[in-house]
Amino acid sequence: MRKAIYLLLTALAISINIQAQELKTPAEQTNFQKVSSYTELSDFVMQLDKASDFLSVEVIGQSAEKRNLYALKFSSTVFGKDPSKIKVLFFAQQHGNEQSGKEGALLLAASLLKPENRYLFDRIDFALIPQMNPDGAEANKRRNGNDADLNRNHMIMTEPETQALHKFFDKYLFEASMDVHEYSPYGEEWAEVGYRKNAQVTLGTTTNVNVSQEIREYSNLEAFPFVMEFLKNHGYSSFVYCPGGPPGVDYIRHSTFDINDGRQSLGIQNTFSFIQEGMNGTDTYIENLSVRAASQMTGMRGMLEFTYSNSSKIKSMVADGRKKLLSPAIKENVSIQSDHFSNGKSLLLPVLSYSTNSDTIVEVKDYRPVVKSILDVERPLGYLIPRSNAELMNWINLQSLTFTDFKPSGKQTYKRYFINSIDSMDFERDIIVNPKVEVREVKSPAASEYVFVPIKQLKGNMIIQALEPQSELGLVTYKSFAHLLKSDSVFPVLRVENKAK
Ligand SMILES: [Zn+2]
Repeated sequence: MRKAIYLLLTALAISINIQAQELKTPAEQTNFQKVSSYTELSDFVMQLDKASDFLSVEVIGQSAEKRNLYALKFSSTVFGKDPSKIKVLFFAQQHGNEQSGKEGALLLAASLLKPENRYLFDRIDFALIPQMNPDGAEANKRRNGNDADLNRNHMIMTEPETQALHKFFDKYLFEASMDVHEYSPYGEEWAEVGYRKNAQVTLGTTTNVNVSQEIREYSNLEAFPFVMEFLKNHGYSSFVYCPGGPPGVDYIRHSTFDINDGRQSLGIQNTFSFIQEGMNGTDTYIENLSVRAASQMTGMRGMLEFTYSNSSKIKSMVADGRKKLLSPAIKENVSIQSDHFSNGKSLLLPVLSYSTNSDTIVEVKDYRPVVKSILDVERPLGYLIPRSNAELMNWINLQSLTFTDFKPSGKQTYKRYFINSIDSMDFERDIIVNPKVEVREVKSPAASEYVFVPIKQLKGNMIIQALEPQSELGLVTYKSFAHLLKSDSVFPVLRVENKAK
């Protein structure tokens, strides 16, 4: 009898083993001596789809070179339909030469099919896009097939990949998200000071001050420590994502507050939104790929666990934040220029010393983790966009913004921006335009010539930062829109405000 049970258990173990073997990712099958190619990835996600009744694969769009972009949707019911569940979206490899995001995502997808992980879908509808940039991935290069950096494209949204992501986001209005990347700490500037960053996984969250303060604080104070502890318990080192430096040469800050990247473009809609940056290999390809992929998967898994354990809290926080965007306080200010500031403390940064080849700590005195506004505007009712301006009209369509015909009203005032001169300013070590602007009330412009873009929408805070001519994150800071800003002339967009009583 005992022998029979033993045999049965062995047979069971073998069958589970075969199943698990079938679910090995393409890179895993080569023992991570090769990255998963686009064709292998396509086959693999279809295999996963067939193997599971709670996973369905959706093609959300195509890349510039017409490769499919896949979203793997995990749900115990009908995806996106159960209001009690939290909707979570992770996406990886916007940068094609950051292969471990994709490999970690594929490992995660395979592991989520295991029965012991099913509990996650009692509370989560989870969508995973393992590869945002298949064109770049095939060539192991950063940019897509149109030579565009996708993670700087979420404001102007000219690329099919970013358009597909946002269409997919808009369809379900995900409440939590993570954008998965790799960082490369091997630069010469760092080598010269004798050390480099060495955390296997780094995490960043929304830093734009217009994102709900509650979401930003909760991310920093609760989510980060949880995921870092989770990584540590699985044997991986982690730290806060902090670009800049090296110490003594330039300041170290938290990641950009620009809303043109994946994380902030969703975050500005008051999404609980993160970026994860695993450490790349020195060859930015397969060096150490198995560990890189496993650490990325573990960080993603940690974030899933956090959202699972805190799903109601996150859901209500996001709902509150979004309610404020949909019925905004008109007298409130919105920041259009910010900067990074010190909190009075130095940073103890874990690094690898090149001289001893061991981990050590350096004290970073010029550490600026606080983002503060340096220029605000009062929130308007909305903006008037000239119908004759094809680029702006195209942009409001690409962003799927709500807009209406313009109907002049005696209850509103209309303001024009006069561009007196164009100065420049430092924005995270880039030099950008900083116009001197005078805002003057004007008579109501002709109704037929404009459309009205109201601020009362989920992207309201994005719209203000895009259209104000003095915004350091604005459309005018992009080459294709720079001509809208001319010294000694009027700006084509107008502000609409409530008439003062
Ligand atoms: Zn990246």
